[in-house]
Amino acid sequence: MMFRRVAFIGIGLIGSSLARVIRRDGLAGHIAVAARSPDTLAAATRLDLADSVTTDPAEAVAGADLVMICTPLSAYPAIARAMAPGLAPDVIVSDVGSVKSCVFKDLGPHLPPGAHLVPGHPIAGTEHSGPEAGFAELFQNRWTILTPAEDADPAAVDKVAGLWKAAGSLIQMMDAAHHDQVLAITSHLPHLIAYTIVDTATDLATDLQQEVIKFSASGFRDFTRIAASDPVMWRDVFLQNREAVLEVLGRFTEDLTAMRRAIRRGEGDELFDVFTRTRAIRRGVIEMGQDDVPEKPEGEV
Ligand code: NAP
Repeated sequence: MMFRRVAFIGIGLIGSSLARVIRRDGLAGHIAVAARSPDTLAAATRLDLADSVTTDPAEAVAGADLVMICTPLSAYPAIARAMAPGLAPDVIVSDVGSVKSCVFKDLGPHLPPGAHLVPGHPIAGTEHSGPEAGFAELFQNRWTILTPAEDADPAAVDKVAGLWKAAGSLIQMMDAAHHDQVLAITSHLPHLIAYTIVDTATDLATDLQQEVIKFSASGFRDFTRIAASDPVMWRDVFLQNREAVLEVLGRFTEDLTAMRRAIRRGEGDELFDVFTRTRAIRRGVIEMGQDDVPEKPEGEV
């Protein structure tokens, strides 16, 4: 057993997947879950992911040696204030949020002096939400990035890393600001492009829209999967990682303009060169085993 009591604040896709791992491997003596809605708490109980449930974060974290925050980023300040009175003096507080610099600002001031903040981000997910959508294999062979401060307690960092290793994750330590820059290009910009392309299609005349859907296998389909991701989560990502996203969006816009010019001028060589370079990146993704889309195994609850 790694932890006496783990408190999950939020138990959607990511929280419930990690709770399934903790249950499967018996890593905690007690799993306490806090969420907002009675339906979510009932689902956590029905799925056997919680030994106790509550809508009060302070009640969930009382006596916990690990608190794992698995809510949208915009909820962090209110959660931090609400759970503060219940936190044990030497608690480890971690999270799974998709942007990391903001975690120190939103959680840090509310933690007791001896608490250990070890922010994390599993680079794994699907377009589905809620406790029913989770599965224990979600993190298998996927990276989890941990972004503790330089002076963080190594024992606390090791414990959080150990939990993600038990989930099958590969661990990467990173500075929070660097994480946000890397994710702006690998995750946030692609989501923005997918949302925009799919939204462009929704503006088309009805008959053309039908054809976009009918012939979606020609490329559009893959964007629709990404653009079906949770709107609250992604709104928060763009609000919290504004600077890094704007920086990479500027570069992307320049590259897009260059492509537009090459097409307009009929510069086939230029297009061919870009499309050849990009194939090499795809080969790298495949070689690192990061190319498949994770899906919940059939029959798993
Ligand atoms: P999700 O399935 O929508 O679940 C969110 C959970 O947070 C629910 O249990 C919800 O409870 C709770 N919650 C929402 N607002 C709250 C609030 N104001 N106060 C307390 N609880 C609240 O979300 P998710 O996909 O697991 O994402 C959770 C976090 O993981 C996000 O920060 C996201 O950036 C990060 N992440 C997501 C992915 C992904 O692909 N989905 C991947 C990596 C990291 P109720 O149902 O009761 O509202």
